[in-house]
Amino acid sequence: HAKRLGGDRVEVFRPTLQTGTRSRAELEGDLRKALKTDGITVFYQPIVRLVDRSIAGFEVLARWNHPTRGAISPAEFIPIAEQSGIINELGLFVLDKGARQLADWQQSFRLPVPLFASVNISSLQLLRHDLINDVKSVLSRSSIAPGTLKLELTESVVMANPEYSARMLERLRALGAGLSLDDFGTGYSSLSYLQRFRFDTIKVDQSFVRPNGRSARPVILRSIIALGHDLGMQVVAEGAETESDSLELHQLGCEYAQGFLFGQPMEAAQATKLLQAEMDALRS
Ligand code: C2E
Ligand code: MG
Ligand code: MG
Ligand code: MG
Repeated sequence: HAKRLGGDRVEVFRPTLQTGTRSRAELEGDLRKALKTDGITVFYQPIVRLVDRSIAGFEVLARWNHPTRGAISPAEFIPIAEQSGIINELGLFVLDKGARQLADWQQSFRLPVPLFASVNISSLQLLRHDLINDVKSVLSRSSIAPGTLKLELTESVVMANPEYSARMLERLRALGAGLSLDDFGTGYSSLSYLQRFRFDTIKVDQSFVRPNGRSARPVILRSIIALGHDLGMQVVAEGAETESDSLELHQLGCEYAQGFLFGQPMEAAQATKLLQAEMDALRS
């Protein structure tokens, strides 16, 4: 059905969610409950160095296992969490869990370069001053090396409120946290902002790594990688699925990649096994 908004504008209400048999309000309640009852967990997806495919770090990704609906994708529940304010609690949970796991791995596996963990931060978390305190306390109660906790922010977050975001990012940087610009190329970034915000990493969006028509890939991908490097940033390509994706990225000078080719998001125990195998290979 349609609802009339002033004048002759008509907005059609279409459900954007596959809510199954549960209403959005019910899902919101379910999500609140899930946070208190271990229904929300985190998975870890490896980010590798393309030169030798060694594991450089992991992205921490939230997962929701619903008691009756099964796994619900973050694309569905993150917006619910944002619109209901649950995101602050959920975000802190993921940050804390990821930092603790990272501390654990850094202690068990003395890799030549310390492992990092990269945590997604929602715009609503950035707009809330407590984020600074959250990050500060998470960093101080874990023993992780400074800079190995990276915060992933998207362009839309930063561009929506550049003055404020610039101050917040400086404060996060002052705490020693790494800053990654996620899904790069999908927003409306102004290149001058890119310089001003001084992210230390950009994550090239999957759509440039695996475009629908393959012909445009090398040109745009090459430009984005070069831009990142020229601005002194590290570049991570998202969504590498095939050997040819990986080869091409490496040839274009990209140092890091993440994607199904190197590993799906997985439970901590499975990620630990991967790290163990890598340590064994280093020793032999
Ligand atoms: P993102 O931060 O860009 O995370 C990367 C997404 O790409 C993940 O989806 C990952 O599973 C998927 N991916 C990785 N490699 C490949 C590949 O080779 N091919 C394809 N097709 N996909 C790949 P996921 O876990 O479903 O998360 C979706 C988005 O939800 C994330 O995108 C992020 O924006 C958001 N998200 C997930 N966890 C959190 C969280 O804890 N907090 C916040 N604020 N957002 C989160
Ligand atoms: Mg991300
Ligand atoms: Mg991304
Ligand atoms: Mg994404």
